[in-house]
Amino acid sequence: MDYAINELEQEVLNTSRELVQKKIIPLRAEMDAKETFSHEMLEEYRKSGMFGLWIAEEYGGLGGGITCLAMAFEELSRGCAGLALTPGTSALGAIPMYLAATKEQRERWCPDLASGKKLWAFALTEPEAGSDATALKTTAIKDGDFYVVNGTKHFISTGKEADFYTVAVNTNPSRGARGISLLVIEKGTPGFTFGKKEEKMGIRSNPTYELIFENVRVPKENLLGSEGRGLLYVQETLDYSRPGVAAQAVGIAQGALDVTIPYLRTRKQFGQPIITFQALGHKVAELAAKTEAGRALVYNLTHRMDEEFLPAVQNALANGTTIHDELKKLKGARWTKYSAEAKLFCSNVAMEVADECVTLCGGIAYMRDFPLEKYMRDAKITQIYEGTVHIQKNEILTALIKEYASKEGDN
Ligand SMILES: Cc1cc2nc3c(=O)[nH]c(=O)nc-3n(C[C@H](O)[C@H](O)[C@H](O)COP(=O)(O)OP(=O)(O)OC[C@H]3O[C@@H](n4cnc5c(N)ncnc54)[C@H](O)[C@@H]3O)c2cc1C
Repeated sequence: MDYAINELEQEVLNTSRELVQKKIIPLRAEMDAKETFSHEMLEEYRKSGMFGLWIAEEYGGLGGGITCLAMAFEELSRGCAGLALTPGTSALGAIPMYLAATKEQRERWCPDLASGKKLWAFALTEPEAGSDATALKTTAIKDGDFYVVNGTKHFISTGKEADFYTVAVNTNPSRGARGISLLVIEKGTPGFTFGKKEEKMGIRSNPTYELIFENVRVPKENLLGSEGRGLLYVQETLDYSRPGVAAQAVGIAQGALDVTIPYLRTRKQFGQPIITFQALGHKVAELAAKTEAGRALVYNLTHRMDEEFLPAVQNALANGTTIHDELKKLKGARWTKYSAEAKLFCSNVAMEVADECVTLCGGIAYMRDFPLEKYMRDAKITQIYEGTVHIQKNEILTALIKEYASKEGDN
């Protein structure tokens, strides 16, 4: 199905497909089994420009938008959702910076982000603050030209491998959630160390770490936007990044189908290919339709987002302002409901497709050397990170209640 993609998006798709065929598929089982980050893939991603797809050309990026990012993430996740996270989580960590950074901060950080020389990560979650980010306890208290950071983050993707961490901290604990701010903290800053490495069900080639901050002195120039506006930037980031997780989920579903359909066509029982048993064939048709529906939902949304995101980037460059401010001028309203719908729908589709594909293929699919059980393990994370399925439903419901309340006001 053609989603009216432009030349740049087609180029991104072609490059991603080539990476999947030539590099990711041959590597994925080994990296999953070893639970190890692939520096070989990091180099491949750097060479093929995967880190700068959505960054302006002025900073060495490709000048694409949210669609380019989502398309690459879908394709790479079709190969391996874990290896896809290297550019995926760097984007997640850097989106809040890109949105809220001043001109000077963009000039400081974007060139190395776009080239992939420096990896970014996003650190919001804490042991006591998961779905409820407002409960975070990491503090950053001003001391002259520095913030002194103390606290612990956990479950942080690409932990230890990333160079810059966008960390949600509280700069004014007496104000509760209104004291939350975002700081960019560089690996190697004294007092910043890594704790437990998680052993996971899926996405095993992407390291998930605990981050520990003990009296870490962070220059005040590393504050994003203004103090107390951290949650706003986090929400805006998730609005743009959740379609990426939805795209990842579509990629996982497609990858599972790509393994399943050829197997069902060639596997014979009772003297016939098992795909000709209508119960199985109809199930495949249903799963393929749901996967395509998810894809349509994602790209319809990201194309609409890009109609504002790309001009906002250009305006911010021209005016020396923040992208966040330029987006506000262009739109004002938020994508939260649509992003949550895409993530909710696609992550459920990924889980259903991967699970059903295992059932359809039978015993072989339970074996580790058949590349299907990994899709089932990997699919699960899309229902959890960047907000669980329940949190997406809460977002959708909140928006619906508001919409209907305002409609009632109209009557
Ligand atoms: C592999 C992995 C990688 C991750 N990577 C990152 C990362 O890079 N950066 C980062 O900051 N975080 C990351 N996370 C954290 C992730 O975003 C959180 O795990 C997720 O938001 C859920 O938080 P929690 O695990 O604390 O679950 P909890 O918040 O404890 O939720 C437990 C259950 O309660 C439900 N629940 C909670 N509140 C509500 C509510 N209000 N209404 C209905 N149900 C509710 C949840 O849906 C869930 O079913 C990662 C997590 C994993 C597993």
